Order: sequence, then C-alpha cells, then structure tokens
Amino acid sequence: MQAAVSLQSEVERFVSAPVRKMLIDGKWAPNPATGEVLARVAEAGPEDVERAVRAARRAFDDGRWPHTAPPERERFLLKVADLIEAHADELAQLETLDNGKPFMESRHVDIPAAAATFRYYAGWVTKLYGETNPSDEAYFNFTLREPVGVCGQIIPWNFPLLMAAWKLGPALACGNTSVLKPAEQTPLTALRLGELLLEAGLPEGVVNIVPGFGETAGRAIVRHPMVDKIAFTGSTEVGKEIHRETSATLKRVSLELGGKSPNIVFGDADTEAAVQGALLGVFFCAGQVCCAGTRLFVEQKMHDEIAQKLAKSAEGMKQGNPFDPDTRVGPLVSKEQLERVTGYLEIGKKEGAKPLIGGERNTAKGLEKGYFVKPTVFTGVRNDMKIAREEIFGPVVSVIPFKDEHDAVLQGNDTTYGLAAGIWTRDVSKAHRVARALRAGTVWINCYNVFDPAAPFGGYKESGYGRELGRYALDLYTQVKSVWLKV
Ligand code: NAP
Ligand code: MG
Repeated sequence: MQAAVSLQSEVERFVSAPVRKMLIDGKWAPNPATGEVLARVAEAGPEDVERAVRAARRAFDDGRWPHTAPPERERFLLKVADLIEAHADELAQLETLDNGKPFMESRHVDIPAAAATFRYYAGWVTKLYGETNPSDEAYFNFTLREPVGVCGQIIPWNFPLLMAAWKLGPALACGNTSVLKPAEQTPLTALRLGELLLEAGLPEGVVNIVPGFGETAGRAIVRHPMVDKIAFTGSTEVGKEIHRETSATLKRVSLELGGKSPNIVFGDADTEAAVQGALLGVFFCAGQVCCAGTRLFVEQKMHDEIAQKLAKSAEGMKQGNPFDPDTRVGPLVSKEQLERVTGYLEIGKKEGAKPLIGGERNTAKGLEKGYFVKPTVFTGVRNDMKIAREEIFGPVVSVIPFKDEHDAVLQGNDTTYGLAAGIWTRDVSKAHRVARALRAGTVWINCYNVFDPAAPFGGYKESGYGRELGRYALDLYTQVKSVWLKV
C-alpha cells in the first residue's frame, strides 16, 4: 500500500490563516473526513455583495475588461490554466480537505479539468464573430456579439474548483465581469483561485469572490438590479426560487440542477464494461454528482447477475481516508448531507427495497467521526418509489428490472429530471434509437461520466435550462446587437 499523501506547506499556509479573506463574521468550516475544524472563512453579508456587485459593475462599465484586446484576454486565460496546473497538487489537497473527495479524484479529474476549461475558452476569445446580414443595400446591417455584463455565479460544493472554472472560463472569455459565490461547505479552492487570477494579472473588480450563505449572499446577488445574469448550479428547489426571483428584473438565467439519471443495461451488453460503468456512474465523488446514474435499469434476464456483480465490485472499493491513494470512496461533504443520505436509506428499506450491500453509515474504526456512508446497492426497487424519484446525492444505486427496449425508455423517461442517461448495448441501431428517445441533456453509450470542455452539458425538464461548456456557453455569456448604417 502506498503512503497517504502529505500536505504541502502552501496548503498548511492557506488553511491556517486566522480568517481566509473578508472578515466580517467568521464561521467554522468542518473537515468532512474527521469532523474537525479545517479553516476559518469570512462570511459575506448583503453589504459585501453590494460592494462586490458595484466593483464588478465598474470593471464592466469602464471597459477595463470587456474592451481589453482579445489576444490579451486570451493570454490571460491561458496563464490561469498554466497556474492551475503549476499548483495542481496544492489545489487538489485543498479540494480534498474541503470536500472530502479522494485525492486521486481531485488530482486527476477536478484540477486538470478546471485547467482544461480555462484553456478551452482562451481559444474562443479571438473567435467571437458577428455577422453581416443580407439587408437592403441602402443599409449596412451587421451584428456584434457583446458580453452580457455583470454575472452572478452561484456554485455547489461537489466540484468546487471545476464549477468555478465552468462559470468563470466562458464568462471572462466573452468579456463579462463576475461575482462568484462558492458553496458554504467548500469555499477554499475558489478563494485560492482568486489569488491565482490576480497573479495572472486580472484587473481589479473583474472577478469578486464572496464566500457566504445562499439565503443571504446568494439571494442578494440574485436580487441585485445591477447584476445582468445569473448562472446557477445546485438543487432544483433553489433553481426554482431563482427562476421566480429573477422575474422581477428579467435578468438572464441559466440553471444546471439535479438529476435522477437512468443508466440502462441491455441483455446484449458487455457485462463487465457495464458493471464498471455503473460503478463509476454512481460511486464517483461518493455519488454526490448531479448526473450520477442512480437508477440502474437492467434487462430482466440479466438483473440478478448484474446486481450481484455490481455489489461485489462495490464491496471491493476501499472507503476511508481520502488522502490514501487506494481510497475509492470518501466521506460525504457534510453532516447535513450524511443525515439526508442515511434518511433516504431508511426510507428505501421501509419502501421494501433490499440493500445487497451497504444500506447504512460506515462507522468502522477510524471512520466513526467522518461522514462516511457505505456504498449501497438496492434491489427490489420500483421506479415509483421515493428512492427512485428523488435525488439522494450519495453512494446509493437502485437496480430496477425492465422487459424490453420500449419499457426501458418508458421507465427511464418517467422522472421529473432530464440531466443525463447511459445505455449499454452491442446493438448500434438500438443505441441510436434509445439515445434519441431519452429526454436527457447528455446520453452516454457504453461509457459514463465522460466530459470534455468542448461537449455541451445541461438539462431537460426540471434539470434546468441553458447549456454550459462547448460553444453553447458562449450564448449564455453574450448577447447579439444588430447595428444599422445608412449607406
Ligand atoms: P443548494 O442549496 O442548491 O446550493 C447550491 C448553491 O446555491 C450554494 O452556493 C448555495 O449556498 C446557494 N443557495 C442556496 N440557497 C440560495 C438562494 N435562496 N439564493 C441564491 N443562492 C442560494 O444545494 P445544497 O443545499 O448544497 O444541496 C442540497 C441538494 O441539492 C443536494 O442533496 C443535491 O440533491 C442537490 N445538489 C445538486 C448539485 C448539482 O450539481 N446539480 C450540487 C449540489 C447539490 P449555500 O452554500 O449557503 O447553501
Ligand atoms: Mg445549501
């Protein structure tokens, strides 16, 4: 067994500051693997949000960012990507301390993907074109693709740095300014990113990072009349509130919300690949992933075999200290999330579902103070049970049988969500048919949880609206102006 990763001195410096950033009403943020206090972070109140929004407004209106020459903005975003890579170990350690996810995940997934996002959007800065329109020749009519303005960007705790990158990368590329609120549980990497942005030469006021609570800081951003756009990732409940709140100012809104994604295994699938895909689909980041494949539909004849194999593989995943390189499943992010997930485990059992493995909190020696839940594979689940309808956001999968292709699509789509879906089959025509029939923003065929900054991501139905990543995010962060000139 390899030794657990030891913390860098830069990480010690960062977490041991008396209070990280703005001090107004410092609060204690606990470490999820041990339940101990990790760092003190300032809490932004409405008056801090006011200052942050005004700073972002000034930085937009005086042109210091939107009017920066495109190659210069491009160079800046590339520099940010380089800095994230240069500090990858440090950022990954901070992320694991703060969120509890295995270091192997933060170091090899979150941090490189954050750098890749900035690098990808650096490429777009010099490629934001307007058009010449076919108007009457007495006029010259063209379009300008302009930034939206001040963006309020509110992000969750499951991929803290990566979500900051998904928000800031395209916003900055298009010339916007930002007020970013990280989640109360995980503000550290966003704050460290703030230092790196300044080091890369970002003008003052272009990005403002306000750690704080949703109900105070978050709501103040959403309501602020000087904010032009809200980009939100988080629960469907808060997404709906933001939708309602913003009707007062008609700000632009994009929402990336929850999911209850179907992962469908057909009888002709490569069984081993499907089991490994199902495992990754639901236990990555301890299941705290919006697109997790939490409803595993298996063709009837394969149901028992797949469920058994999945349980056996899940049992082999080491749960424990997230800094141990062998750890595959870390703790949940917070006590609140622990209670929520164990609550669903009880509901599932009461509804008649049977845990093949797991089904409870993990209080093994050394883990008893952390927020660990055992990887859980439920069988005996029907698609209308609460555990198959509501987002659990923990390491819990429900295995549900289906009869045929039609039944798989029907049950797969029978959900209020529509974020993602998986299909496992060797039949190419069936894969295409089912991919089209599923009402979800992303469909993975014979793979799961694959991402690339070039591929759009977002939801159907109550999983939200708007598409992040790819060139689609440019539509979120620009608006089109039509200009007429009399010739
Ligand atoms: P959440 O409350 O929706 O949090 C997401 C972000 O929104 C956080 O920064 C949060 O601040 C902020 N927020 C909360 N209330 C707000 C308001 N009224 N106005 C503006 N911003 C507000 O999610 P959560 O409470 O952390 O998690 C609850 C459940 O949401 C999870 O169990 C899971 O089902 C789902 N979730 C989904 C995603 C996703 O990626 N789609 C991510 C995380 C959670 P605070 O930090 O103060 O809450
Ligand atoms: Mg919350």
